[in-house]
Amino acid sequence: MVLVASGGPPKWVGFKCPCGKGHDVLLNLDQGRRPTWTLTLSPKGKITIAPSIDYLDGGRRCHFFLRKSKILWAKDSIR
Ligand SMILES: [Zn+2]
Repeated sequence: MVLVASGGPPKWVGFKCPCGKGHDVLLNLDQGRRPTWTLTLSPKGKITIAPSIDYLDGGRRCHFFLRKSKILWAKDSIR
């Protein structure tokens, strides 16, 4: 997982999609832009991202939740 910041709170988070197809997911964390995701780090270093991550590409849909560093796939994902 990569966090991009320029002297302030992180602006972007990027990581390889857990679907295993090898594409990247890039999420905006800057509250001044839409859509915005919120990344929270637990004291134990577990990552939670809200809301869910919904990646659409052609006929594929990667829709999942990241809660405490665990991936929960949404039922409408097409993998
Ligand atoms: Zn994917």
